[in-house]
Amino acid sequence: MKKLVVGNWKMHGSRAFNAELIQGLLSADLPTSAPRADVAVCPPFVYVAEVAAQLQGSPIAVGTQDIAVQVQGAFTGEVAAPMAVELGARYAIVGHSERRAYHGEGDELVALKAQSALANGLVPIVCVGETLAEREAGQTQAVVTRQLQAVMDTLGTDVARIVVPYEPVWAIGTGKTASPEQAQDVHACLRAQLQASLGTDVRVPLLYGGSVKPDNAAQLFAQPDIDGGLIGGAALKAADFVAIARAA
Ligand code: PEP
Repeated sequence: MKKLVVGNWKMHGSRAFNAELIQGLLSADLPTSAPRADVAVCPPFVYVAEVAAQLQGSPIAVGTQDIAVQVQGAFTGEVAAPMAVELGARYAIVGHSERRAYHGEGDELVALKAQSALANGLVPIVCVGETLAEREAGQTQAVVTRQLQAVMDTLGTDVARIVVPYEPVWAIGTGKTASPEQAQDVHACLRAQLQASLGTDVRVPLLYGGSVKPDNAAQLFAQPDIDGGLIGGAALKAADFVAIARAA
């Protein structure tokens, strides 16, 4: 299976910064240098159209960092999936731990966002992951299983069409990466949960996210159930993001 590497730019960038970053990605000639990886970047909404235009004709896809449940209406500040599609987006991250923590997004809302993305032609990238307190309390598997189950209950067999990054909250932006073994353990648990419902012929891409860098990417991506990465900080440096895509 082709690996998938997705850059989450979070609330970073400017028109000038983005243009330089994209130039760096395009000059790396990813189809040749990383032929076995699909690559996408998720800029802030306001830049999606411009970034999509700059990447047109390249193998790098564009995604959003969130999406509304509703497709139209009186929902001030929201952006609907059809709007993102119209601007050139192919993916939508939903349920990122920063949305769960700072915007109070719960499992059911995240599942509905994934459903809206899918219904409108976007591939939902549905993040799951435990906090440090939950890990220390031995609840890692219970938490990620609960988060994924909410999406499975809402999507049914359509869950086969999503991407699931495992992002331990304690590893995001902290420089602390889960060890390849820690990540693999959780990925194996998610894989089993998905296969129990979908069968073993369907492989839902399971990404790892949390302080992935050029020097730890290859070891993480070598794990049997890690199908790529969701990259935050390192996605803002063209050389680092390209090195990670190459590692995939
Ligand atoms: C993320 O925000 O999805 C992420 C993985 O961030 P970082 O790579 O900076 O830890």
